[in-house]
Amino acid sequence: MSDSVRLIPAREKIFAQGHPWVFSGALVNPAGLPDGATVDLLTTGGDWLARGYFNSRSQIALRIWTRRPEETVDGAFFENRFRDALRTRHLAGLDFSDGTNRQATTAFRWINAEADGFPGLIVDVFGSVCVTQFQTLGVETRRAEILDALVRVAQPTAIIDRSDSESRAREGLPPTGGLIYGALPEPEIEFRENGLRFRVNLLEGQKTGYYLDQRGNRRRIADFARNWESPEFSILNAFSYTGAFGVYLAAAHPHARILHLDESAPALDMALRHHELNGTADRAEILKANAFQQFRRFRDERRQFDLIVLDPPKFAAGQDHVDGACRGYKDLNLLALKLLRPGGLLATFSCTGVVSRDLFRKVIAGAALDARREVRILAETGHGPDHPLLPNFPEGEYLKGLILRVS
Ligand code: SAH
Repeated sequence: MSDSVRLIPAREKIFAQGHPWVFSGALVNPAGLPDGATVDLLTTGGDWLARGYFNSRSQIALRIWTRRPEETVDGAFFENRFRDALRTRHLAGLDFSDGTNRQATTAFRWINAEADGFPGLIVDVFGSVCVTQFQTLGVETRRAEILDALVRVAQPTAIIDRSDSESRAREGLPPTGGLIYGALPEPEIEFRENGLRFRVNLLEGQKTGYYLDQRGNRRRIADFARNWESPEFSILNAFSYTGAFGVYLAAAHPHARILHLDESAPALDMALRHHELNGTADRAEILKANAFQQFRRFRDERRQFDLIVLDPPKFAAGQDHVDGACRGYKDLNLLALKLLRPGGLLATFSCTGVVSRDLFRKVIAGAALDARREVRILAETGHGPDHPLLPNFPEGEYLKGLILRVS
């Protein structure tokens, strides 16, 4: 007989809609259960609802593994989840590198937490190397079994742990990281994305070393850039990090000249190396500066661009900072709109989860009004298919983007 917790009657309806979390206030007095344990969720009357993992130290007291009573949470269960997530990626043409140079893309997100039935776990794949993030106590407690299942399914050459996200602290966990399986012949791993070459240090890079969530959006903006007609094509890639947007744009158009802007010198060096790897270093430049200040300098110098990519880091973590985040987006986008030549393109993104898609669009509309520029939305974008979403789980959706033509 496993441990169980009971849901208060007022929350039964919302739980039935499929949300994968139960907040502490929705449980009937769960005192005494071990944190991290896998438990059954019952109605107040005692009917079985789901199986999940419990943590009294988190506001999200229970995260759901399964709503099927016959499924026990063990090594075979984890293996099934890994295999099923891989089948989803296969549908999108994504797979482990076969060691040849034939695959256009050899890096993708294999496990996207709740949306892949693995709450609290992220696994990214770079060639034959996996990068894991154990974000919660529930998956940390099962770490060894989860890693065994991963190895059985994928046989990676190495697994790098990057469990250093903010969410771990909220769960009462210290950060962990480093090589936890196999061997790395070199600190940098080379992989391909849509036929382009990248090399990143997965032990030291931000997040899991490379932003896989923007893959489809890089391609989207490159597809527009490919048809650029004028012989001049000056591009500003702001918040460039690995430089990936600029590398795509340089490959898409022979006249594209890219200026990468970031406040991190190592990131800018990496952007240049990525152009070298792809044979476009002669059309790439770098500038180390704070984007907010540099945009004002560009404005004062009357410097103009034909295309600007704006992909800033997250501006707010919680609901109480939404207003500040919106002010940041408005300021940045207003300045960027003013730096664009008429007929130019703006690809603008927000990865702040608490800023909804609607709200982001409103902020951009406000920025356009204030900048006295007319904008047309050519595309609204988000996550790729290796970052699936659940229909009743808005918390899982953070990335949104707009590709605009600006007159
Ligand atoms: N566009 C990138 C991801 C951007 S990550 C990609 O496609 O992978 C955010 C980047 O913004 C980081 O490299 C960070 O160094 C940089 N950054 C953060 N705040 C900044 C600021 N105020 N000015 C300039 N760069 C900044």
